[in-house]
Amino acid sequence: MTARESLVRLCVLYPDLLGTYGDGGNATVLAQRLAWRGIGVDLVSVESGESVPDSCDLYLVGGGEDGPQTQAARGLAASGALHRAVDAGAVVFAVCAGMQILGERFPDRHGIDQPGLGLLDCITMRVDRPRAVGELLTYDATVTGSGGEVTSLGTLTGFENHGGRTVPGPSATALGRVEIGEGNGDGSEGVVNGRVLGTYLHGPALARNPLLADALLRWVLQVDTLSELDDTDVEALRQTRIAAARQHELAPRRTWRDRLRGS
Ligand code: GLN
Repeated sequence: MTARESLVRLCVLYPDLLGTYGDGGNATVLAQRLAWRGIGVDLVSVESGESVPDSCDLYLVGGGEDGPQTQAARGLAASGALHRAVDAGAVVFAVCAGMQILGERFPDRHGIDQPGLGLLDCITMRVDRPRAVGELLTYDATVTGSGGEVTSLGTLTGFENHGGRTVPGPSATALGRVEIGEGNGDGSEGVVNGRVLGTYLHGPALARNPLLADALLRWVLQVDTLSELDDTDVEALRQTRIAAARQHELAPRRTWRDRLRGS
């Protein structure tokens, strides 16, 4: 591996607004996978109201509730730092509300469309269906490397909890296809434009899916391969969760309102 000389700078954006679902763990996973490989890491967390740096290599945006996600979108639009960073080649990993605000528009807590950051070609809307809550499994997940090579990520596993559904636009690629759960809501899961990647997978997603974590790191380090890590324990845990999801052991309990609606 030919890692870059400098530190990898990771930035967790607005964990005070977008920290509801444990997605902060994604930064811990990336930092540890870099450290295990002897690559230096600088991990910063930027709360709402603080100045956003535009010089980081990878930005993480987590999930959150409808009100705080509108606030986060406004803060990031006003700052402009994330746009400057993406223009300069930064990688962005965004989960659920994070993905929704990176798109062209998303609904606020009153269901009114709000402008997104336009870094992902997708729109998010309310639909007349219950929230998507439960385990989420995908197949055919791939990412494209800097040289155009396509890498399979195998089965992606996580959980989802969202009211909005997302429609990828013509310039976007879906991250994968849904086996169990809802994902974007049209059979696809996640949205990718260049090195900006959004997903509905919580978990944290990168703890449950080390291949996805390493795909992001390859983008950041601009390498085709990374040294192997021993992921035996993670793989055992993954297989347990995948099997449980397929047997619907983890299916969410429906509310009485859902039952009466026949959903
Ligand atoms: N508030 C958004 C929705 O419900 C996103 C939720 C989340 O980040 N899990 O659609």
